[in-house]
Amino acid sequence: YQRIVLASRPRGEIKPENFRLESLPLPQLAEGELMVRVHYLSLDPYMRGRMSEAKSYAAPQPLDATMIGGTVGEVIESRNTQFSVGEFVAGMFGWSEIGVSDGSLLRKLDVSSVPLSAYLGAVGMPGMTAWYGMNQIMQPKAGETVVVSAASGAVGSAVGQLAKLRGCRAVGIAGGKEKCDYVVNELGFDACVDYKAGNLKADLKAAAPDGIDAIFENVGGEVFDTALGLTNAFARVALCGMIAGYNGEDVPIRNSRALLKNRVNLRGFIVTEHPELWPQGLADMGALVAQGKLKYRESVAQGLAAAPEALIGLLKGRNFGKQLVKLI
Ligand code: NDP
Repeated sequence: YQRIVLASRPRGEIKPENFRLESLPLPQLAEGELMVRVHYLSLDPYMRGRMSEAKSYAAPQPLDATMIGGTVGEVIESRNTQFSVGEFVAGMFGWSEIGVSDGSLLRKLDVSSVPLSAYLGAVGMPGMTAWYGMNQIMQPKAGETVVVSAASGAVGSAVGQLAKLRGCRAVGIAGGKEKCDYVVNELGFDACVDYKAGNLKADLKAAAPDGIDAIFENVGGEVFDTALGLTNAFARVALCGMIAGYNGEDVPIRNSRALLKNRVNLRGFIVTEHPELWPQGLADMGALVAQGKLKYRESVAQGLAAAPEALIGLLKGRNFGKQLVKLI
């Protein structure tokens, strides 16, 4: 089977040479272990951080080891009484066609009403991230205006739809007309501002005529500063990501004046640090997807060897919705 390891650490943007594809013989299972054939690999912005040596909230990805990553797949062999061949599971098997586990940290998946791939998106870590920021930090009331950046992406698309379900005005910020059209016409946001069009401030003001009560921030930099400038008194900010800075770019918060003037409550969070909330959050998100109340879109790269380019593309905004790699 094949896997991809981290061959070297990138400086600035990731390059294909930072990865190496390897072939390995199928492992033998020990008593209590099971083997999973990975169907989909999740690509996520956090992976850029793990590729660096810099200290962060998580340890760096070791060199010459399988690249980290969330996966969903099917049990193909089992010496574990809790898991049977043919069951679907989510786990962190990384960039590999095959995973071996003792069963701990695996989540069994019901694929009868939710598609397998959705467990890496709307009903997985990104969906949980949207749920957390919405319910634990922003807590918007009906009629309030919620702004979310990277609005067409895995996390952002869920945030705006959850805001609509709460009766809020949902305003997205995304790159390009096609993404903005999708956010409004398909996902049902009230408005979406194309930050690449060059009139961010005026366009956002027009899209949020009553000001902004809550921001779900995924990008940082100018996008965030502009939204901060339009906040109402006692606005909440769920600071989720700053993808504009993941290749080492400076992403200062310049609009600190707005933070004080509007008594803004800003909180950063890392969703994996709140495992106690995941069962409830994933149950909520799963029900919404099963009922057709939460839509999502996927960008699917084909085959393990396509993963490096797809990750590079994700960090440049070339994805349109949740970025996956389909292995079979
Ligand atoms: P997305 O599916 O949203 O993909 C990333 C998107 O970011 C791109 O498509 C692009 O959309 C947008 N983007 C905006 N500015 C830039 C820029 N300067 N460079 C590159 N891309 C840019 O990814 P996710 O939904 O998985 O993640 C969204 C954010 O949430 C990320 O910041 C991520 O790190 C964060 N996150 C945080 C978690 C936490 O626990 N705190 C957990 C999960 C995710 P466009 O074309 O519209 O610009």
